[in-house]
This record gives sequence, C-alpha cells and structure tokens, in this order.
Amino acid sequence: MARKTFYGPIIDVSFDGAICQHSGECVRGMGEVFDTAKRPWINPSHAYTPELADQLRQVVGRCPSGALEIVERWSKA
Ligand code: SF4
Repeated sequence: MARKTFYGPIIDVSFDGAICQHSGECVRGMGEVFDTAKRPWINPSHAYTPELADQLRQVVGRCPSGALEIVERWSKA
C-alpha cells in the first residue's frame, strides 16, 4: 500500500498501512484524529490549534512502526 497523506489546517499526517503494527498508540493518544470507525480514519482537521497540533506531533512520534509521519507545511515548498 502506498503512503497516503491526510490534510489538516496546521499539519498533515501521512500513513503507510503496509508497515502499521496495529499497536493502537495513535487511537489511544488522540481519538479525535485517529478513529477507525470513520472514513477516512485519520482526520488532522481536529488538530486546529497550535496546542492540538503539538499534541498530534507527539502522538505521531510515538507510532512504533513509522507508519505515521507528520508533514509540516513548510516542508512542502
Ligand atoms: S501508532 Fe502507528 S503502528 Fe500503531 S496503530 Fe497507529 S499507525 Fe499503526
């Protein structure tokens, strides 16, 4: 599966389902953004303040497989 990007107002999140270990760190860490009952299951639009964006960075940083990555806006230039 190719890496896919989900867009938010401050930061984006990319996900590669082929390497996800299904540990659930993301869902436990920020259930508003990572909700497997919804499609798409990753919705960075919930991280709409700088504080929530920081929380999302931390949760993505705990992803043990590297399936999740933060895409910072300034890195897209
Ligand atoms: S934290 Fe990473 S490895 Fe764990 S379920 Fe989420 S995406 Fe998959």
